[in-house]
This record gives sequence, C-alpha cells and structure tokens, in this order.
Amino acid sequence: MNTSHTVAKQGYVHKWRRALTSLHRRAVREPYYFALNRTPSYHAKADAPSIQQLYDEIKSLLVEKNAVVIAHYYTDEILQQLAEETGGFVGDSLEMARFGRDSDAETLVVSGVRFMGETAKILNPQKRILMPALEATCSLDLGCPIDEFESFCNKYPERTVVVYANTSADVKARADWVVTSSIAKDVIEHLHDQGQSILWAPDKYLGAYIQRITQTDMVIWDGACVVHEEFKAQGIAALKHTYPDALVLAHPESPPAVLDISDYIGSTSGIINAAHSMDNNRFIVATEQGILYQLRQKLPHKEFISAPTAGEGATCQSCARCPWMKMNSIQDIHHILLTGENEITLQPDVRQAAMQALQRMLNFKKT
Ligand code: SF4
Repeated sequence: MNTSHTVAKQGYVHKWRRALTSLHRRAVREPYYFALNRTPSYHAKADAPSIQQLYDEIKSLLVEKNAVVIAHYYTDEILQQLAEETGGFVGDSLEMARFGRDSDAETLVVSGVRFMGETAKILNPQKRILMPALEATCSLDLGCPIDEFESFCNKYPERTVVVYANTSADVKARADWVVTSSIAKDVIEHLHDQGQSILWAPDKYLGAYIQRITQTDMVIWDGACVVHEEFKAQGIAALKHTYPDALVLAHPESPPAVLDISDYIGSTSGIINAAHSMDNNRFIVATEQGILYQLRQKLPHKEFISAPTAGEGATCQSCARCPWMKMNSIQDIHHILLTGENEITLQPDVRQAAMQALQRMLNFKKT
C-alpha cells in the first residue's frame, strides 16, 4: 500500500498564532474580559441585574420564544447548567448538531463557537440560530481559510476531501465529508476499505493519529487547536509519577507524544464514557477544562485532574481554557433572546453544498 503523509506548510498559520497570543494571555488572565467588554450595558450601571436575575429571566424568555440552549462541554459551567435545567442540551459538536436537528424549538441558542452555529444553520435552514458571541471562533477554523483550502484541494483532485467539523461553512461546502472527532476514525476506515485516498483538514494531530491507526493514504493540512496543542507529555508523565494509579484520557487533537502515553484517546463524549466505564478512580484529563464540570457531576466519586500545559499562570497560552468558548456568557444569552441579534445566516448554495457533506456523516453507520 502506498501511504503518504504530507503536511501543507502555510505561512499564515504562524501569523494567526502570533496574533492570537495576546488574546489567549488576556483570556487566561481575565476570563471575563470579553463578556464584560462586549455587553457594556449590563456592567456600566450600578443597578445592573445580577447573574441570578438574568438566569431566571432567560428561563422565561426561552419558553416565550420557543427556544432552547445547546451548549458545548467547553463552555462555562453556568451555561451547561442552564442548558440542562431548561430542556436544552450539552454535548460535543456531533451531538449538538443532532439535538438541534431533532428539536421542535423554533430558535436554537448555540453556545459554543462559530462553526457550531453555522452547522446548526446548515442542518436547520428553517430555524432561527442565535449565538451569544458571533466572534467566538476556533484556531482550526481560522487557520483554514477557504481560498487557501481551495488551492490545496485543487492540487489533489483524485482524493476524497474529508474535513473536521471545526471549519467554516465555505470549507464544508468544498468537502465530500464532514466528520467530528467521535466519528472520524470510522469514516476514514470505511473510505480506506473502499480504496479511497484522503485529503484531510484542518487538524494535523487528529489527521496524523487517524492516518497512523488506519494506515490510510492521507495528505494533511497544517492546522492545530491552540488548547490541545499546549498539552505536554513531560508534564503528564510527571503527574503520573505522583499519581501512579491515574489513567490518562486525551483528546486526539493533542500532540503525538501526549497520545503515546495516554490510556484512552477519544472525543469529549468518548472521554466521559471512558471515565464512566473504566474501574479506576483517578484520571488525568487532556482536553479543555470545561469538561471537568460534566465529569465531576456524573462521577462524583472519581477524581479528575486537568493535564498540565506548557507554562503556568501568565506563562501559558491557553492553560487548557479555550478563549473563544469562554466568550459565551449568561449576559449575552439574555441579550440575544431579548433582541434577536447575532443570528447566523448562510448563502443558500453554500448551505446546500455543506449539507451534503454533513449529511453523509449523519447518515453514516459503522458496518
Ligand atoms: S478548544 Fe480548540 S478546537 Fe475547540 S473551539 Fe477552542 S480552539 Fe477550537
């Protein structure tokens, strides 16, 4: 079998990485900076409503507007709690998409990052999709602009184009398949069995991991998640030395050295299920810290330790917190429900082309 593993070198990746460094540092030092600065009306006044007041009003607004909150595991605990308490949903991006598609609500409040709101719109053109923070994006999405991606695809016309869900609607529209981390390996395995060679984008670590375990012929875009890329195998090994009974649960967006010392590799939902089914009572978790809320809530008798990142405090870039996921706030949800602002719209032709690639994933059943 002819297996190639080519990583596209793109100069802009370094540019956005530099540009984002100050954003990450600020988000880590001042986690509420973005919410406070994007909703000045709530914070400039001495008589601004409390979080509890807003929370209670949101509950009424959701009923009044026939709306539900769909939150990602990486959002703040209070948003996950709100979604759970009001008949909404908390999950990974595939589960969020499925819940949104099956929900009877007219309005979906997607608390996550931009591509998740776009995915909801692709699947639900008749529903109103609102996002608390339209500027909440993702380093994988930012690092894969459609014009560069189009050129990359044109270099490999014979390959099946498979993109990760963390991409814009335009990139999805250019793809044959869209996959999430929970289904990526099974889809690639299926395509490999059919004798297809793959063009993969944008996460290079997830791509390389799948390429390695499926032995599929893949060319891989050079993108990375700023949060997962920062986990360091050395720090995790040191933590394992302190807690020899702990198992390491890692997201496949983490670097290969981290995956090599992990006991389980999988999506956020996969990590929660693994922690549930494994007998051990202590785990080191290499993914965004928001997942700890779900893990501790579902498994209170087990201990979860966040995997160390490069640097500590002000010297780390993400500190295992996604600066874009943390842009979502109770204040913004209240604001968009009242005003209808931050609605996601898409060009019909882009939506339809992206829908085909997404639908393949949603229809996919492992054989
Ligand atoms: S955690 Fe990483 S992959 Fe997820 S939204 Fe943030 S930057 Fe993107």
